[in-house]
Amino acid sequence: MKILVVYWHPEPQSFNGAMFRTACKVLANAGHEVKTSDLHEMRFDPVSSRKNFTTVKDQNYFKQQIEEMYATETNGFSEEIETEIEKIEWCDLMIWQFPLWWFGLPAVLKGWVDRVFAMGRVYGNGHYYETGVFRGKQALLSLTTGGPQEVYLQGGFNGDILGLLRPIQRGILEFVGFGVLAPQIVYGPAHMTHDEREQHLAAYSTRLLHIAHESPIDVGTY
Ligand SMILES: Cc1cc2nc3c(=O)[nH]c(=O)nc-3n(C[C@H](O)[C@H](O)[C@H](O)COP(=O)(O)OP(=O)(O)OC[C@H]3O[C@@H](n4cnc5c(N)ncnc54)[C@H](O)[C@@H]3O)c2cc1C
Repeated sequence: MKILVVYWHPEPQSFNGAMFRTACKVLANAGHEVKTSDLHEMRFDPVSSRKNFTTVKDQNYFKQQIEEMYATETNGFSEEIETEIEKIEWCDLMIWQFPLWWFGLPAVLKGWVDRVFAMGRVYGNGHYYETGVFRGKQALLSLTTGGPQEVYLQGGFNGDILGLLRPIQRGILEFVGFGVLAPQIVYGPAHMTHDEREQHLAAYSTRLLHIAHESPIDVGTY
């Protein structure tokens, strides 16, 4: 398979960094083609603006989706954005590795979505969900939390983790056509022993060896 791993954490030595490097190594050793977007290393700027484009549709009023539609027609995405879009178009499976921040994506990864998931090229013109541009591709969220698993169960004080992930899994990934695999979640790695963390890395490695045979989940309605 062709696999894109998109990763953000501000500290390369973090547990997220270990999850990212483990995934890249295991997948490459298993014979998959792997590309990465290490957004921290890339110093990816998450702020969307006219710098997304080399073209200008309306110089008096910046409306991002109008500019995206125009850039789609005229090959007008900046090199930075074009490169990221082409990686998504290339892959069969896209993995996002990130720490859960404020119940959601950390800002740099969210900004990557804001800038790269462009109307016209990635969605729109009748292409959403079942008719999405990326129909046939799969996506996997691999994330860590600060809180323990019990606070992310139904009835737990943070609520069901699948409900928290729905804006990402349904609102972003399924919206553009991806099938969503069950999320890989490590709850509270900072509160574990070193051995426990290594066991999580080993379990993730084992899962990744068989990832090509997994089917998408029902991300729920919530
Ligand atoms: C702005 C902000 C918002 C947040 N919002 C939330 C929230 O909404 N909900 C929530 O639950 N949490 C939240 N958190 C907490 C955050 O999700 C956790 O701190 C994070 O997920 C932990 O992952 P990490 O990679 O940062 O762990 P780290 O603290 O970097 O790593 C944990 C330990 O793993 C060790 N380690 C690294 N590599 C390896 C290896 N190869 N083998 C074994 N051990 C290794 C590290 O040395 C460290 O001791 C928030 C944090 C911030 C800063």
